[in-house]
Amino acid sequence: MKGEVWVVDESASFGENRVALELLSKGRELSRKLGTRCCAIVLGCDTREEVMELIAHGAEMVYVAQGPHLSQFRPRVYTEVVCRLVHEFQPEIILLGATETGRELAARVAKRLDTGLSADCLDLEIDEETGNLVQLAPAFGGKLLAEVVCPERRPQMATVRPGTFPQLLHDPKATAPVLYLDTVDAELEEEWEVVAMEVAPEGDCELESAPVVVSAGAGVTCGEAFHLVIELARALGAQLGGTRPLVQRGLLPQERMIGQTGKTIRPKVLITVGTSGALQYASGIRGSEFIIAIDKNPMAPIFDEADLGIVGDASDILSRLVSALSSVRKENDLEAAHG
Ligand SMILES: Cc1cc2nc3c(=O)[nH]c(=O)nc-3n(C[C@H](O)[C@H](O)[C@H](O)COP(=O)(O)OP(=O)(O)OC[C@H]3O[C@@H](n4cnc5c(N)ncnc54)[C@H](O)[C@@H]3O)c2cc1C
Repeated sequence: MKGEVWVVDESASFGENRVALELLSKGRELSRKLGTRCCAIVLGCDTREEVMELIAHGAEMVYVAQGPHLSQFRPRVYTEVVCRLVHEFQPEIILLGATETGRELAARVAKRLDTGLSADCLDLEIDEETGNLVQLAPAFGGKLLAEVVCPERRPQMATVRPGTFPQLLHDPKATAPVLYLDTVDAELEEEWEVVAMEVAPEGDCELESAPVVVSAGAGVTCGEAFHLVIELARALGAQLGGTRPLVQRGLLPQERMIGQTGKTIRPKVLITVGTSGALQYASGIRGSEFIIAIDKNPMAPIFDEADLGIVGDASDILSRLVSALSSVRKENDLEAAHG
């Protein structure tokens, strides 16, 4: 049997961050193709609840390294523990979230194990001939989507951003073995000490979980068009996001940027206006269920991503959409008023 597929959980931010659960669903798919099992690695202090959650979301075995020395992410200690586990159990693949913690841990572990690591992968597959992990990752500044393989070194390692894969359904009846490991002697001196932790306020930005998103691009930076985009989002009760040029011009905060270096969204409906469909932006919207694109250029690549394309001037189309929505609302209000 091939080595296992491992998903490294982020214990310290488990409440807010579900990326490990998303990776488990992809890990299960990969492990089936390899004829092996998908396991979770948990490093932390009091991990009972998350172990249960990981099992309910598809972990077929959980390795737990537990103790006060692991209560918060300490890069050197975590690296030491993960590398020891790898030496002992020889996994085939290790997946981590492309979060601040996951990125730092993955890079350190890959360096220590002298193996390859692909960052921010958009998809993962198994090559049926070789059994290698094919890591689809943006390359050359995001202009290309590269298929990266690591044929000679093991484990094969990849990070994936939150929101890239859907989770498996929660199965409260699922069971799996849990192996508690003794790692107390992994206590190492860190070069720094955490004196306090404070979560930066995210405002009311809920782009990643919003059912409807309106997204604006460089084609709507003029006053009237941008104002209409905001009105449309308001009328639909949608979250507002956009492309990098809007953030660079100060029209949107960084937390509302969609794409490779911004948020990955998966709404039921996305209306994307004046966005050309650059690969770095498109990679953040591909999980959307239905995409409506509005752009004046009929050849814009965004139309390749769209389920419905509207070619024309953004201000013209947006003003018609906004007034149509307001007429519908008035009719509904009238009907409600007359019973
Ligand atoms: C490493 C790297 C990472 C990146 N990460 C991201 C990222 O995460 N997110 C991101 O968005 N970008 C990212 N970028 C930038 C990305 O490459 C593009 O430059 C950016 O997405 C383009 O934004 P846009 O579509 O709004 O602008 P443009 O490409 O300029 O497109 C504007 C569109 O508006 C249309 N238009 C113009 N006027 C009108 C009008 N009046 N009515 C209707 N349509 C009109 C045009 O036809 C055009 O299609 C990244 C780049 C690099 C190199």
